[in-house]
Amino acid sequence: MVHFVGAGPGAPDLITQRGAALLQAADCIIYAGSLVNPALLGLAKAGCAIYNSAEMTLEQVLDVMRRMEAAGKTTVRLHTGDPCLYGAIREQMDVLDAEGIPYDDTPGVSSFCGAAAALNAEYTLPTVSQTVIITRMEGRTPVPEKEKLASLASHGATMVIFLSIGLVDKVQEALLAGGAYTAETPAAVVYKATWPEQKTVRCTVGTLAESVHAAHITKTALIVVGGFLGQNYERSKLYDPAFTTAFRKGTDQ
Ligand code: SAH
Repeated sequence: MVHFVGAGPGAPDLITQRGAALLQAADCIIYAGSLVNPALLGLAKAGCAIYNSAEMTLEQVLDVMRRMEAAGKTTVRLHTGDPCLYGAIREQMDVLDAEGIPYDDTPGVSSFCGAAAALNAEYTLPTVSQTVIITRMEGRTPVPEKEKLASLASHGATMVIFLSIGLVDKVQEALLAGGAYTAETPAAVVYKATWPEQKTVRCTVGTLAESVHAAHITKTALIVVGGFLGQNYERSKLYDPAFTTAFRKGTDQ
């Protein structure tokens, strides 16, 4: 059996209890070495085979899984954050399906949640934005035509931009080209959220690129943008004394 497991954003105690138990029981761990905190490998039992997928191709990863399965062993495929975002799990699962190798998936805390925590921020503030756009800037990996950053930025919603810190000048340009954010719209960059070396930089869309360069951030960072980082919002209906909910009678009744 193969268990896909979300490692969480960095801090080793942010893996789920289920994920930790699977790591402890695994005969083999294939971890995404570019981003997963190696401290998690300390959970492995003695004799566990450990592979760093950063140095492997999809074919090599699948070969290890096949060999383990044939020997009746359990493999954990450890992905950073939650495997469902930029995890390249589908291409693994499709082969496992075709070959009848059973697997399951254990979620993890995505880095976009770790980044919000680092900023003490709520992405979905009433009257500011009720939508979070998770995306990336196109680079060597293309994005579909309708998902170009400038076009997504035209909504003015909260945006979380993965995998793009090295292209921050182009990101800034595209965010402004969308027409909904201005140079004054708040933005922030979170480097290595939840790791001991975590760094946060608060800026605006207009100062995004220069702020990232000044902080010497070149990898493992998220760019977040939107009015949710600003001062103005309305309080929630849910906790408004006047508002009746299924659990509480409000003064408006
Ligand atoms: N599945 C992962 C994302 C993998 S893509 C998740 O759910 O978080 C890799 C990108 O995620 C990095 O380029 C960076 O943009 C972001 N990332 C991963 N871990 C991060 C962290 N601890 N802090 C900030 N960004 C992180």
